[in-house]
Amino acid sequence: MKIAFIGLGNMGGGMAANLVKAGHKVNAFDLSAEALARAQENGCATFTSVRDAVDGVDAVVSMLPNGSIVDSVFAADVLGHAPKGAILLDCSTIDVDTARKVTADAVAGGYDMVDAPVSGGIAAANGGTLTFMVGGTDTAFARAEPILSAMGKAVIHAGGSGAGQAAKICNNMLLGASMIATCETFAMAEKLGLDLQTFYDISSKASGQNWSMTSYCPVPGVGPTSPADNEYQGGFATALMLKDLKLAMEAAQSVNADVPMGTRAAELYAQFDAAGKGGMDFSAIIQSLKN
Ligand code: NAD
Repeated sequence: MKIAFIGLGNMGGGMAANLVKAGHKVNAFDLSAEALARAQENGCATFTSVRDAVDGVDAVVSMLPNGSIVDSVFAADVLGHAPKGAILLDCSTIDVDTARKVTADAVAGGYDMVDAPVSGGIAAANGGTLTFMVGGTDTAFARAEPILSAMGKAVIHAGGSGAGQAAKICNNMLLGASMIATCETFAMAEKLGLDLQTFYDISSKASGQNWSMTSYCPVPGVGPTSPADNEYQGGFATALMLKDLKLAMEAAQSVNADVPMGTRAAELYAQFDAAGKGGMDFSAIIQSLKN
């Protein structure tokens, strides 16, 4: 297929490269010359405008920073410029309402569209092992699935338009809250004089077990290798967790959901980010809970 890819940053760069490896012809556009140069090295054709990049393609994939950018790029340069009938896939993490609006605009313009945010970070984007949570009609999902499969290990149809974004922020709200609960527990265990490896051996086989503990332990030297073993570098940045928690808070408000743990997680990550820690992995919040 001929696929336009818009937004070749930390995530999109690797994703576009995997589409090329799968045999697709990829037209790349990004505002950053550096991102475009990397895309060219990875076998993409590069363009100086979105309109040129989407000309004559079968599909358009976007991986952009936020909802207002996604909305403006699609409204100004994709809808009415990509061939009618092309399948459109937005893989960015954005708010549910904007995802639904952009899809409604696309459908009105004669396109199929899915919201398909990802779970997994830069390593998964490069390695083609992302998990995609997809919102859209059965027809749109069936068309998007083979494209997403070239970039990920799992592609799950979450429901109608916006359901991918809803699933993503619900998952990440749970992750933020469970990471903080894991961090505060290890900080308290230490103060109570427990050996942390011993506590891990117990809790990882008891009812406190959770992903933040057993797959991504925030304590250096305990559990499988994680960003904690690399001074909290790499992994999933605090600033990105905060972005997702803010989206979760907006979504909770829009449907009047009572989310006390998610709210507290958003407050604590906002404080940690404001303390200049936005670039550290989100498990580094254990440092502030220890003090
Ligand atoms: P990034 O900032 O590295 O990349 C975004 C790219 O979009 C940049 O190259 C930027 O130049 C480009 N861009 C911005 N405005 C543009 C425009 N109008 N037209 C064309 N290009 C434009 O961000 P990222 O880490 O790759 O994240 C992209 C999306 O993926 C975000 O929505 C983020 O929340 C989500 N996400 C990121 C991660 C992660 O670990 N980094 C994990 C899951 C989801």
